[in-house]
Amino acid sequence: MDAPTCRDEADPGALGVEQAQARILQSLTPLAVHERVALRQAYGRVLGEPVHARLDVPRERNSAMDGYALRHADLDGGRATLSVAGTSRAGDPYRGPLPAGASVRIMTGAVVPDGADTVVMQEEVTRDGESLRVNRMPSRGEFVRRPGDDVEAGALLLDAGKRLGPAEVGLLASQGMTEVAVVRRVQVAFFSTGDELVGAGTALGPGQIHDSNRYTLYGLLLEQGVQPLDLGVVGDTPEALEAAFEQARSADVVVSTGGVSVGDADFVKSVAQRHGALQFWKIAVRPGRPLTFGRVGDAHFFGLPGNPVSVAVTFALFVAPALDKLSGTSPPRPLRLRVPTLSTLSKAPGRRDYQRGVLEERDGQLAVRTTGAQGSHVLSSMSEANCYVVLGESSTGAEIGATVEVIPFANTL
Ligand code: AMP
Ligand code: MG
Repeated sequence: MDAPTCRDEADPGALGVEQAQARILQSLTPLAVHERVALRQAYGRVLGEPVHARLDVPRERNSAMDGYALRHADLDGGRATLSVAGTSRAGDPYRGPLPAGASVRIMTGAVVPDGADTVVMQEEVTRDGESLRVNRMPSRGEFVRRPGDDVEAGALLLDAGKRLGPAEVGLLASQGMTEVAVVRRVQVAFFSTGDELVGAGTALGPGQIHDSNRYTLYGLLLEQGVQPLDLGVVGDTPEALEAAFEQARSADVVVSTGGVSVGDADFVKSVAQRHGALQFWKIAVRPGRPLTFGRVGDAHFFGLPGNPVSVAVTFALFVAPALDKLSGTSPPRPLRLRVPTLSTLSKAPGRRDYQRGVLEERDGQLAVRTTGAQGSHVLSSMSEANCYVVLGESSTGAEIGATVEVIPFANTL
């Protein structure tokens, strides 16, 4: 039998996506080095140790509404008229206990005076000078926020391994904390390979193209919260690659693109191998079939394919979870939706496709359409898409109206 070629779909020697992911993850150990950083520097970092709350939030009983704080029993079932004894504003509380038969004008977030147990919304009272009647009998305790009803002092606020986003940084700030222990940033050296590549800003000669992978990769690495080290464009010669790997091998991770396909002038593989131990995988995935993984020096090495969409897909499937693990956090579990397709999706059986799609609302229902041409060089498809359409290994495509699985790129409101 001939060796498998790029046109073969069913390749018995190919690794499944999950198999490859498992092999990668099992060879990684999380970084154990922590550093303390100021809160503003903590965004996107991974918490190195559990953080317990030292304050109740809210710290004092406060009002959830603009209205009047009062003693429920004083309402006499709604028949009583109360006096207005003063005002409690956020940051400027009413001082002293609530007098009998009185209410206190209160603003949202202001401290509820001692003796008051209920807040009535301002829309539900009639105020006449210094006297107040309630028009709807509240239940006792209404619109009073208890101390600690958000966070209780002593409770686990955030666990080690939590990636710090805006809400987490806000939570730490609400505790009055000014710095936090985070895992050291993973250092990732990266470079593009290819004699045809020239950097942005340089005019193209015959047969040359601008290097886009290094820019895509840079963004992907920033999103992962790692420290990128850009080693530039490396030519397809053993000498140039040797120099690049020599420089890269002291990082935690090395990522290259290009030069790992079958039949390539594959110096990436042979040079990298001199620096460590490598595995060459064909993965049952499209795009992104060839993947090289292993070690160069002490660094973990990912040799990604050269085509720009393959870079994005293999990074998401294999590099991002690895960087998460090294950073001490678990990869986020992607949201998977099943929706009807608005386009015919063509596919040959054999590999799992991550096609680019646009998830949108049609007649009040979520549905997905294709971005069009699915070649692994069509980087514009990644930009237009807001999701992957995942078509399983045995799938032969999908007709309009069929249900398909999609993974949205980002889940925001
Ligand atoms: P390779 O895996 O090196 O054979 O590259 C596969 C295809 O991707 C070729 O058409 C390359 O020109 C293209 N390619 C490789 N690296 C880059 C890059 N850094 N930016 C844009 N295209 C690239
Ligand atoms: Mg190449």
